Amino acid sequence: MARVGFIGLGNMGGGMAANLAKKGHDVRAFDLSPEALERAKAAGCLPVASAAEAADGAEAIVTMLPAGKHVEQVYTESVFGAAPPSAILMDCSTIDVATAKRVAEAALAKGLTAVDAPVSGGIGAANAGTLTFMVGGSAEGFDRAQPFLADMGKAVIHAGASGTGQAAKIANNMLLGATMIATCEAFLLAQKLGLDPQKFYDIASVSSGQSWSMTSYCPVPGVGPDTPADHDYQGGFATALMLKDLRLAMEAAADAGADTPMGARAAELYEKFAAEGQGGLDFSAIIRMLG
Ligand code: NAD
Repeated sequence: MARVGFIGLGNMGGGMAANLAKKGHDVRAFDLSPEALERAKAAGCLPVASAAEAADGAEAIVTMLPAGKHVEQVYTESVFGAAPPSAILMDCSTIDVATAKRVAEAALAKGLTAVDAPVSGGIGAANAGTLTFMVGGSAEGFDRAQPFLADMGKAVIHAGASGTGQAAKIANNMLLGATMIATCEAFLLAQKLGLDPQKFYDIASVSSGQSWSMTSYCPVPGVGPDTPADHDYQGGFATALMLKDLRLAMEAAADAGADTPMGARAAELYEKFAAEGQGGLDFSAIIRMLG
């Protein structure tokens, strides 16, 4: 078992650090929030006083922070100066592709190996240790990161070079945002044309319109499996987080010169829904705005 520095013990990082401790790792945990540090201590981690202290002497360092600016600051101001050259650095936050690449290049210049390893799966999966990790970095970086990520998840996939983990994450979530809106529209149209939503589900779920948004995450209450729609759109994947990922996708598309008209429309609609004060609701609640 290894000494692991864990920085960012929020909704996601708290459960992930706890799972590393449960697997027997010596987890040195840091967060700016004293409450988060208390929770990490109760979960078997050793709270430390700074990000540099978490990185000092660690074989592996995991960060789970809000956005690119936090990640870049923590690595350049704390981790790079303290991590031993043998350490593997894993950023599991969802951030912009450009920052992810910049951090990996800066790590390399210091003789360190860093990978971007964002996750699919929400707070429930973080707590249960069933996240999916999509990893961008060298083959050697992936091989070194893999055992640690496997201790926090059910699947660890090498996406390609630095930044491609983030690219996979935002392209996937752009697809999800667009299919969720299309699924909502289809149910609303079917209903206006006199079709019972359950009947439409029975037909479309075994026809070519089927998607994960329909059969695993149906936005209509009482139809399909149990989803946030059945709980007044509480829990699940917050609209604000979907909007964050769509903004990152639009930024990356502009940088790469990619034309993404459906993604752009999904981003506009989620901007509008969040601006109506619905950012805390599950993202499938957008059916209420479209109806
Ligand atoms: P969160 O806001 O709950 O946690 C972030 C934590 O980072 C907070 O505890 C904060 O105090 C800490 N932090 C901020 N700056 C810091 C610094 N300089 N040093 C140390 N700690 C610092 O966010 P979250 O929901 O845990 O999400 C973390 C990342 O995971 C985000 O990038 C998010 O987009 C991504 N993500 C979240 C979910 C989800 O369902 N919540 C799912 C997939 C991916």
